[in-house]
Amino acid sequence: MYYVSTRDNYPRVSTAKAVKLGMVPTGGLFVPEKVPKISSKLIDMMDLTYGQLAQEILQYFLTDYTREEIEECVIRAYHPDIFDSPEIVPLHKLEDRTFIMELWHGPTAAFKDVALQIMPHFLSKAIQKLAADKETVILVATSGDTGKAALEGFKDVEGIKIIVFYPYGGVSRMQELQMATTEGSNTHVVSLKGNFDDCQNAVKEVFADPEFNSFLNDKGVELSSANSINWGRLVPQIVYYFWSYLNLMKRNEIKEDEKINFCIPTGNFGNILAGYYAYMMGLPVKRFICASNENKVLTDFINTGTYDRRRDFKKTNSPSMDILISSNLERFLFEITGHNADQIRSWFEELQSTRAFQIDSVTHDKITGIMEGDFSTQRQTLETIKEVYRKHDYLLDTHTAVGVNVYQKYRMKDSETVTVIGSTANPYKFNSSVLEALKGKEALEGKDEFVLLEELRKITGQEIHPGLKNLEEKKVIHSMTGEIDNIKQIVMDILEI
Ligand SMILES: *Cc1c(COP(=O)(O)O)cnc(C)c1O
Repeated sequence: MYYVSTRDNYPRVSTAKAVKLGMVPTGGLFVPEKVPKISSKLIDMMDLTYGQLAQEILQYFLTDYTREEIEECVIRAYHPDIFDSPEIVPLHKLEDRTFIMELWHGPTAAFKDVALQIMPHFLSKAIQKLAADKETVILVATSGDTGKAALEGFKDVEGIKIIVFYPYGGVSRMQELQMATTEGSNTHVVSLKGNFDDCQNAVKEVFADPEFNSFLNDKGVELSSANSINWGRLVPQIVYYFWSYLNLMKRNEIKEDEKINFCIPTGNFGNILAGYYAYMMGLPVKRFICASNENKVLTDFINTGTYDRRRDFKKTNSPSMDILISSNLERFLFEITGHNADQIRSWFEELQSTRAFQIDSVTHDKITGIMEGDFSTQRQTLETIKEVYRKHDYLLDTHTAVGVNVYQKYRMKDSETVTVIGSTANPYKFNSSVLEALKGKEALEGKDEFVLLEELRKITGQEIHPGLKNLEEKKVIHSMTGEIDNIKQIVMDILEI
């Protein structure tokens, strides 16, 4: 299988090349030239373990990887030492016909682990395949969460080093400790004196500096990124859509080929898009429900056909969904228009220049034929956490609560169809908002995150996620701080060149 650019501006490439390049160097995103249909019957896949199912699904896309290579990646990633549930992605029944797909059992307690635990192994193998003779160094700028997930994923992966930059004083104490205590001989963490935008711009400048890159190449080093638009991060997410469906069949909650809904808390549109690819492969889906927070660009887009980011950015209590540019939407539009690259290029150029674009009514009808869009306010999000905890004794994080709230609104139209809601973070990860939801804002006063964590544990009696537990007692391994303007020297010092 080959991968083509959504803007038809680059030769087609192998999977290994698509994973190594991340995004199309001339702009645009890599997508499969043709989406494969699953050849097995769903009923015949019912008894597979998560790892076996992953093997099965990944083989359709990683056609230039051998069976053994994929197997090695799968075994390393979806391992009981790494995910704290043998099912990897357990499905919790909330109530009749409503299920929660728990995507947060990985090392950092959020859904990005499912992809970031395996993608580094794809990349490591891609480097071998393309016979690259250079050491690959991943640079990441983070506002907190992605950095830790990437560090955990790349930790001890052969032939790759990772350097994560975060704003000094700009992440929570817990996030800082999560990163600073990362083990592994190939991981590096540096705080830079500036805000997140400064860090991100500094990293972008390093990538875009031809002189510095050719200097690095001479020293045997090549830079790369683990960006969320890399196809290697999207494809592992297709697996859990099949997994959840098969799980419902196994539990006799649905009949074979019965159509179900997926409701997904959405930011960059990666998670829900993976579901759409599962649907294109043959998974029986009735509707995808795209759930947003108050940054509801996607809700408006799905309902009106106009994508308009000319609005204020809001900092909400579901921060991982505070996004006004949903990068993966480009892939979705490419698929839904039947690979009309000229059209995609013109829409996204328009978005770049005017910060908005409008699609035609035929495309809009196609989108609303399969997808719903709605949003949850911050207050509704907190109320949902409280109500679900009271009614079902089940604790939601703020991102998942956005999904549940949006689903509750959708259910007024259709309460018959079995629905799976994506749960993208463990509630302890966003403990202060969750505690606020249960006990009110006063309960937070004068307490640091570690006290809040313990308080939440006392109320609910639920175990604290291992990735968040005993952080204060772990050894701090990384404590380097530097100046933004000095980033290139920092990279050189770390690489000892
Ligand atoms: C990244 C993230 C999301 C958004 O997922 P997308 O694939 O970007 O749509 C939602 N919730 C949490 C907790 C996340 O970390």
